Amino acid sequence: MPVPFILDILIQTKFLTKTFMKKFISISILFVLLLNGCTQQVYQKQFYVFGTLVGVSIWGVSTEEADTAVDVIIKDLQLMHHQWHAWDPSPLTDLNQAMATGKSGILTDTALLIQAQQLYTLSDGLFNPAIGQLISLWGFHKDDLSHTQALPSQKQISALVALNPRMDDIQIENNQVLSHNRAVQLDFGAFAKGYAIDRAIKTLRQLGIQNAIINAGGNLKAMGKKGDTSWVIGIRHPSGSGILGGVVLNGEESVITSGNYERFREYQGVRYSHIIDPRTGNPAKGLSSVTVIAQSGALADAASTALTIAGLKDWHRIARQMGIKYVMLVDDAGIVYVNPAMAKRVQFPAEQVPTIVVSEPL
Ligand code: ADP
Ligand code: MG
Repeated sequence: MPVPFILDILIQTKFLTKTFMKKFISISILFVLLLNGCTQQVYQKQFYVFGTLVGVSIWGVSTEEADTAVDVIIKDLQLMHHQWHAWDPSPLTDLNQAMATGKSGILTDTALLIQAQQLYTLSDGLFNPAIGQLISLWGFHKDDLSHTQALPSQKQISALVALNPRMDDIQIENNQVLSHNRAVQLDFGAFAKGYAIDRAIKTLRQLGIQNAIINAGGNLKAMGKKGDTSWVIGIRHPSGSGILGGVVLNGEESVITSGNYERFREYQGVRYSHIIDPRTGNPAKGLSSVTVIAQSGALADAASTALTIAGLKDWHRIARQMGIKYVMLVDDAGIVYVNPAMAKRVQFPAEQVPTIVVSEPL
């Protein structure tokens, strides 16, 4: 099926190196696309936060109103990024240190933790933000990933898996957080951006904006429309370039893609995904990208990670359990798997229609 429309946003580059971003920030200050002050144009702005390029498009308000609102969400995104940073010193690393010594610590926004616990349970523990130690062991607690650092030994991996860090080891009382298992180390990398875009869209709404898209490096949420037209987004091809497919969005929706094509380690010719299977302690294999559409960005983010681990054998069961209605998976050979409801929504470019396998309904 051809894509008969112009894409508003191509879900794109996730993690850019710090060096590149320093250059980018200076360019982006000039690159604020203010398409004039009238209400009929799409306002666009890009900035760097959460280790990724974030783009906001807004329709239906003046440039001044959009600017003011965007400033508010930039500050809030920066705050969330700092609070939940898993390796730079942050309130989260303080909490992790406290939990490692059996003490309680503080997390200001416990709603994030509570939602993460619920999604952990719904995903049968495949989405498990308590496995920070394993993620670090695999060398992913770095901005720029090393392709020469040796891989962890199976002994080290098995030792951490045996400690069995679980989200339900964590007890929350007001803002006090305590883990009954000292091996619990929180890492919200699979979830924070989805949660953050939910909060950003909510803030925009509170500031009187009804039509917007926010795209935080492959984690996208939209609301409303551009006048009479729906927002249309492009999902990046996991090969790294071009568009895999386009989707027309209906009101408030989030489209989140987890992939092994942006953030991975390549060691001696083998690629290791940054998504770790908590059951084995090894990187997930077999799928290059998983896209989920749901109203909640937090849910879609957690689900895209969990389904990557569930793989082709188990994605249906986990998606159903998590209440997900739209899924698209791409395996390492480029074959696309979709449930029938998703098949109706994704349009593939005429010049590059992949092999598509439509599953049973979810
Ligand atoms: P992407 O960055 O491609 O959107 P994800 O949303 O799946 O990917 O997030 C991957 C990140 O989540 C990893 O870099 C790591 O910090 C964390 N992570 C890895 N494995 C898991 C897991 N099983 N459960 C929860 N978080 C994970
Ligand atoms: Mg995710």
